[in-house]
Amino acid sequence: MSELDSLYQELILDHSKRPVGKGEFEAPEGSLSASHHEFNPSCGDEITLSVAVDPTTGAIERLNWDGQGCSISMASASLLSQLVKEDSLTADGARERIDAFREMIHGRGATEPDDELLGDAVALQGVAKFVMRVKCAMLAWVALEADLTQIDSARGTGS
Ligand code: ZN
Repeated sequence: MSELDSLYQELILDHSKRPVGKGEFEAPEGSLSASHHEFNPSCGDEITLSVAVDPTTGAIERLNWDGQGCSISMASASLLSQLVKEDSLTADGARERIDAFREMIHGRGATEPDDELLGDAVALQGVAKFVMRVKCAMLAWVALEADLTQIDSARGTGS
């Protein structure tokens, strides 16, 4: 195992032990919120991810999740929460990150992930080699995507 791999493993373990964003969700007044539950039957992971968006600016005001599952799925939800928080993402910004993450996870190492877009979430790039774990890694990101689609149609900008 390379030094980078073990560094990544540590990061994943750390996030699965002390997850960011895990906890109860309360939408701020005046925000648009959505909640989505995702289940991964091949591993048993489940996540409910809730998000609140400012209807005028599109800024993500709050994101919380709860769930249970393998360390990959839990670490991934935590890394996603950290990314949204640290970069103060808007709904559109988050969508861009979701696309980049999906490309990394489904790319099987074919492309170098963009750490400016993905931050610490690049730690999950090793997952791309294990087809069985792809769903684990994608779970929270897919849930956020579903939330944002729901909010979009509420904002009237839905595609
Ligand atoms: Zn899993």
